[in-house]
Amino acid sequence: MDNFPEGRKFIHSFAHKRGYAGNFLLQMRVLRVALEVPVAKLFDYLCDDAMVAEVGDRVVVPFGARERVGVVVEVGASSAVANARLKPATRVLNDAPRLPAEWLDQMRFLSSYYQRPLGETVAGALPPRLRSLKPLPKKRKPAQENGAPERFVPGPTPNAAQAQAIERIVATLGTFRPFLLHGITGSGKTEVYLRLIPGVIAGGQQALVLVPEIGLTPQLEARFRQAFPGARIAVLHSALEDTARTHAWLDAARGEARIVLGTRLAVLTPMPRLGLVVVDEEHDPSFKQQEGLRYSGRDAAIQRAKRAGCPVVLGTATPSLETWQNARAGRYELIPLPERAVPGARLPTVRTVDLRAEAVEQGLAKTAIEAVRARLSRGEQSLVFINRRGYAPVLSCEACGWAAGCRRCSARLVLHTAAERGRESWGRLRCHHCGAEEAIPRTCPTCGNVDLKPLGRGTQRVEETLAGVFPDARILRIDRDNSRKRGELARTLEGIGRGEGDILVGTQLLAKGHDFPNLTLVCVLNADSALLSTDYRSAERLFATLAQVGGRSGRREQAGEVLIQTRFPGHPMYQSLQRHDYAGFAASELAERESAGFPPFVFEAALRAEATELAVTIAFLKAAARLVPVPEGVRIYDPVAHVITRRAGYERAQLVVQSSSRVTLQAFLADWNAALPASAPSGVRWHLDVDPIEFD
Ligand code: ADP
Ligand code: ZN
Ligand code: ZN
Repeated sequence: MDNFPEGRKFIHSFAHKRGYAGNFLLQMRVLRVALEVPVAKLFDYLCDDAMVAEVGDRVVVPFGARERVGVVVEVGASSAVANARLKPATRVLNDAPRLPAEWLDQMRFLSSYYQRPLGETVAGALPPRLRSLKPLPKKRKPAQENGAPERFVPGPTPNAAQAQAIERIVATLGTFRPFLLHGITGSGKTEVYLRLIPGVIAGGQQALVLVPEIGLTPQLEARFRQAFPGARIAVLHSALEDTARTHAWLDAARGEARIVLGTRLAVLTPMPRLGLVVVDEEHDPSFKQQEGLRYSGRDAAIQRAKRAGCPVVLGTATPSLETWQNARAGRYELIPLPERAVPGARLPTVRTVDLRAEAVEQGLAKTAIEAVRARLSRGEQSLVFINRRGYAPVLSCEACGWAAGCRRCSARLVLHTAAERGRESWGRLRCHHCGAEEAIPRTCPTCGNVDLKPLGRGTQRVEETLAGVFPDARILRIDRDNSRKRGELARTLEGIGRGEGDILVGTQLLAKGHDFPNLTLVCVLNADSALLSTDYRSAERLFATLAQVGGRSGRREQAGEVLIQTRFPGHPMYQSLQRHDYAGFAASELAERESAGFPPFVFEAALRAEATELAVTIAFLKAAARLVPVPEGVRIYDPVAHVITRRAGYERAQLVVQSSSRVTLQAFLADWNAALPASAPSGVRWHLDVDPIEFD
């Protein structure tokens, strides 16, 4: 495919136009340009006859006092604006491939589905450099590309289940078909993805592989490079510096990258020869963008595959209930990988530790301490998982009950020790919602008491406790506070994989897809808090997190063990987890969702708003609910304040809209979204979230 309007093609099309009747010259062409502005409209520019601009071209246009880069999404012969008032486009940028029609279709779909302007959608899908006036970096000489891109270096021989999965999916190459690859942790899903790709490359096509986090999983990227030493692999995520991201994007858009490996934003990259889409850990909430165009990377990936006419593989040990329901209903083909791939490796034994019955010291039950001790004596690694960073979530005064709160949020300040900053001081109080920091008061601001106490615990405190109990152990703490630099974290994780560290204390950061061969014990603290949440998705999330964290252990011959400290050992979620019974858990959750009328049995959107006063926020939402006629089949609920109502000085609330029909809901949202902007008083910030997954 020749995407470049240059050379002979340029001259040819130019001459072709000149060949038309003379009055053609009088008939100006009008370019409808998508610009990055928060208005849901396109902007018209004149295209003079010497300029060859087509749909999909990036163009420089005057806008206000300055120039901007936009994308031509339509070319017409006239404009609603009088020609005399139209400004001419300045120039066409043809240093990158013309954006393909299929890609623009996808952008139109996303813009209309998620109710955001097309200009913003298109701009958000391009790396910053492609929307700037700065010229693109020079085409780099590919480091790889040695003339044999199809060379495949196979890993272990697939077991029967893997072989079946591969055979089934490969048979559908060239047609759209969604698969759910439901493989337990360690079942070798990555090997399946890898073995699908040679056929894609041999057919001259490209594979798109989406993962939740790529900076944290260098093992995965390394595995792909090892398997395809000759192929161009483009890696795409938001933390890449500008030039690297631009190059990777161009490689994909030119069709030169055989494999595009990236986070959710990679799904927005043009790929002219897309032949396979993989979404690894499809259930991961990070596939949903939480600002601007609030798209689901997973859902967009399915759309993408549909347009390209290729299979899409959703891989996970714990499918989202949406996906599981789609598989149950036969819309996705279910392929199970029920065994661990490494011969002899089995799923860990999962047990609950009853906190009501056992002696607990500093948050650690005796059973957990003894289990860690046993691992230390055998030279194996343990992981203590607590999904809360900092030292303690509350600093309070025992005398009067005061607790340190954030001035700008309805939230407690979290006590952090200063150890990670190499300072001697006790540390700081930090707000995990707005980022505010304060010094620790010497005395209680209410009663003057000097004895302020940290309550509860986070990773830092658990680390301190473990260091006291096991003074000779090498303890590594992994959370966002000591892992600000991705490279650093990746190195630490690799080190752990090689056996560095005896006891790991960490948050969710440790849960994602790492292979730690020597890890045989996982202790889970504070899981119960998620069970008490008001969010109907919290049980689903907790199950996925615990299955994933637990799945870090016992990935080789030594058996793994997971200990969950809880006050509710009889809770059905923990019971299912002990039996490794995802299907049972999903069935009971889905039954509940169905009877309560929650997704995936209905479709939802949330209108969220914030203002400095809660009354203003609520009034806006109430008025919004009456703004346009609500069609039959759509239900609007009353506004509800967020659990953390005030954040960074704004009082937040939302209302939920539901329908059992996606089409009906979409039609309503389009009307509503057109009417909303004019109805919002100044000082109210609002947005729509379609298929929301976060409610606080
Ligand atoms: P998952 O992504 O399903 O959790 P991985 O793809 O990371 O699992 O595989 C887990 C481990 O099993 C890896 O070390 C991988 O090399 C190994 N493995 C995968 N398939 C096989 C196989 N067929 N035989 C032996 N080992 C395998
Ligand atoms: Zn006090
Ligand atoms: Zn705050």
